[in-house]
Amino acid sequence: MRTPALAVDVAGGPFVPITLTRRDLRPDDVRVDIAFTGICHSDLHRVHGDWANGIFPMVPGHEICGVVGAVGENVSTYRVGDRVGVGVMVDSCGTCAYCLDGSQQFCVEGVVETYNSRGYDGALTYGGYSRSIVVREPFVHGIPDALDLGGAAPLLCAGVTVYSPLRRWGPVAGRNVAVVGIGGLGHLAVRMAAAMGAEVTAISRGPGKRSDARRLGAVDVLAADAKSALGSSRSRFDLVLNTVSAPLPMDDYLALLRPGGVIVNIGAPVGPISCEPFSLISGNKVIAGSMIGGSAETQDMLRFCAEHGIRADVEVTDAKAIESAYRRVRDGDVRYRFVIDTTTIGE
Ligand code: NAP
Ligand code: ZN
Repeated sequence: MRTPALAVDVAGGPFVPITLTRRDLRPDDVRVDIAFTGICHSDLHRVHGDWANGIFPMVPGHEICGVVGAVGENVSTYRVGDRVGVGVMVDSCGTCAYCLDGSQQFCVEGVVETYNSRGYDGALTYGGYSRSIVVREPFVHGIPDALDLGGAAPLLCAGVTVYSPLRRWGPVAGRNVAVVGIGGLGHLAVRMAAAMGAEVTAISRGPGKRSDARRLGAVDVLAADAKSALGSSRSRFDLVLNTVSAPLPMDDYLALLRPGGVIVNIGAPVGPISCEPFSLISGNKVIAGSMIGGSAETQDMLRFCAEHGIRADVEVTDAKAIESAYRRVRDGDVRYRFVIDTTTIGE
């Protein structure tokens, strides 16, 4: 099937309209007619060539929500018209220890990502900045009725990416959790950690997001760029989630942890994470990382969000405005996620 899409031909290049051919449905395939696709900062890193292995032309997009347009003959979970989402992964081997354990992102055969990746049939993958996509059933997620498709789309990457470490390093109820960077991931992390019962502190650059952070559920807000603000919170947090898309002065942030505390790096800027050995040794502190979340965990996160009324705060953009949307994400000027109205692609 042919579908209009937005592509970049070279790293750093502009978006151009193209037409993609999606594969004919296999027995376990679902065709999703996309309504909204979120603009994740990872899309910017990829499009700008920040990370190695960019494959061009590239059609980004891994925060996808829409309705089922067609199903293969063996699909049992979904029917035409169901509201569904697709995240960062579209296939994995399904038989290795990680897949069986629900951590498909670590599949030993190599997880197939929604874009900038190669399927097991050798075909390149193209993402959700398009009107439709064909995905194997296990990588399609049902969207609960309580969630609107626009507000749910960012949950498919940003949502599960912050939910997973909150579960992995939790339970966080009654504990002090800091979220650094109040962007697409960060605003959902504040909401989720608060809903899990944590005492949440937001750490943000200027004062502009202070009142929003409290509305999202933070009990306190610290200025990221004021050493004195961070200094007054030494040894305060059990868990710090770093969602910043630029390098952080790691020693300053390790100082915020209580003994035994953990900082989880989720933001993926270019360059090393470095710290003084005694920033870790004094207090048995842990620097961790976290990569998206598994398939069952994604469905679990969607249920959790529906139960707690958690959606992303979104600004809807049309395809023609994508360059300005990208500039605003780069400048941290979005409250808190752009989603593309994909019906405007190819108009
Ligand atoms: P985003 O919406 O742009 O938010 C990032 C936030 O970081 C900004 O809103 C800003 O918050 C802060 N920030 C940005 N530039 C900064 C700078 N130079 N210095 C200090 N703070 C800065 O991005 P996102 O979509 O949430 O993604 C965040 C990062 O997570 C990206 O690197 C992305 O690639 C990565 N990511 C990782 C995974 C994973 O699996 N690990 C999954 C998805 C995304 P304030 O204005 O509040 O300071
Ligand atoms: Zn993402």
